[in-house]
Amino acid sequence: MKSSVVLLSGGLDSTVLLTKLKAEGRRVVAMGVDYGQRHSREMDAARAICARLGVEYRVADLKSLAGFFGGNSLTDHTQAVYEGDYDEEGMKTTVVPARNLILISVATAWAISLKCDSVAYAAHGGDHAIYPDCRPAFAEALDKVVQISDWHKVVLERPFVAMDKAQIVRLGAELGAPLELTWSCYKGGNAHCGKCSTCRERREAFRAAGVPDPTHYEED
Ligand SMILES: [Zn+2]
Repeated sequence: MKSSVVLLSGGLDSTVLLTKLKAEGRRVVAMGVDYGQRHSREMDAARAICARLGVEYRVADLKSLAGFFGGNSLTDHTQAVYEGDYDEEGMKTTVVPARNLILISVATAWAISLKCDSVAYAAHGGDHAIYPDCRPAFAEALDKVVQISDWHKVVLERPFVAMDKAQIVRLGAELGAPLELTWSCYKGGNAHCGKCSTCRERREAFRAAGVPDPTHYEED
């Protein structure tokens, strides 16, 4: 049986990825990371998603490294969360430097220790150029490194690389993924704010997919 460590943020894309690999009959475990986020809402979501799917979930506690991730609104709580469009200048304030490099490194270590075949993450075609470590060139180079990190070979997988977010939502609906348990909002709280860039992107993905949006938005 093929086996994978899946990077699970608690958002739509990684939840659909986890559901898809599990549905394919893989042995999967899920990993989240606590890098000092503004809120723990997405980790709560990831925990609920894994409980629903019957998947082991572990969080890598990287809070002690938060001092190295400064200058962005996700980990620096003195900065306001950007509310504009999903555009370049605004989104730059939401970048955790080299986040995927850090996450994939930890996930690779876990995959090697579990003798898993792969580390899978949900980078997709709609990921903006603003996230430098979402670029195909980054993933292709890192895959080569992951593969030679140990005598036990692990590969880096990005099954959604050719899909956009609406296609991922549609796939999730087809697979019965627990989309209603996912969390996207940068702000935390009890409901999605409906205003921040990820809320707007989330709402648009459901609309474009033609899938009923189960999200409760604060402003509705
Ligand atoms: Zn929001």
